[in-house]
Amino acid sequence: MSTLDNLREIELRIQKACEAANRPAGDVKLLLATKTVPAEIIKTVLQSGQTLIGENKVQEIKEKYEVLADTPHQKHFIGHLQTNKIKDILKYGVTCVQSLDRLDLAEKLNQKLVQENKTLDVFIQVNTSGEESKFGISPQNALDLIQQVAALKNLRIQGLMTIGLFSAEEEAVRKCFRLLKNIQQEAIALDLPDVSLTELSMGMSGDLEIAIAEGATIVRVGTAIFGQRIYPDSFYWNETKDVV
Ligand SMILES: *Cc1c(COP(=O)(O)O)cnc(C)c1O
Repeated sequence: MSTLDNLREIELRIQKACEAANRPAGDVKLLLATKTVPAEIIKTVLQSGQTLIGENKVQEIKEKYEVLADTPHQKHFIGHLQTNKIKDILKYGVTCVQSLDRLDLAEKLNQKLVQENKTLDVFIQVNTSGEESKFGISPQNALDLIQQVAALKNLRIQGLMTIGLFSAEEEAVRKCFRLLKNIQQEAIALDLPDVSLTELSMGMSGDLEIAIAEGATIVRVGTAIFGQRIYPDSFYWNETKDVV
């Protein structure tokens, strides 16, 4: 099947999952997870009507920048962000960092934004599966981080992001998404000024139906649209292999 056929399949899966959850179609946005995908292919998919991509590596954002420059789209950062790459995030048109998971990164981002007189949308990434290999603030510390980031005025919290457990056990996966939803509700109850927590970015190729049932507003899909990647995910999610 072609990439565009795969895309159509995913749109149908999202639509059906919304129906099953009694949620309006259009409640859930599709983010194309485009790590390792060549810019020309991304361009084709954007021209078919998609608007949102997510990249994991600053280097890839740079490499694809020129080809995508004239094609309207939103670019979110969903990978592990090193503080020395902050200036590139802003330079190459990232509109949202979904993977904000620690205070020192938030402070440095905010500092740079203040200097440039800009604001940036962010999601707090929570490690709901408890797996060591995954980035994200621990669930116990999430509310503290949300409050600390809320105090940084050039960062605008839009919601939360998580990567669910990789497991064939549906209930174990569901637990991760439920936990994120619970943290969202607790954070909303804090009633922080100027903080919006409407977005829940959760669900990928293998588990988007469960995530939508549990309240996802953004699903991030790569493999099911673009095919298998040559690198294992640990290449993107594991600090020690963060070499690109
Ligand atoms: C790669 C990636 C995805 C997409 O995963 P697939 O299983 O390929 O759909 C989603 N979120 C993040 C953070 C990713 O790195």
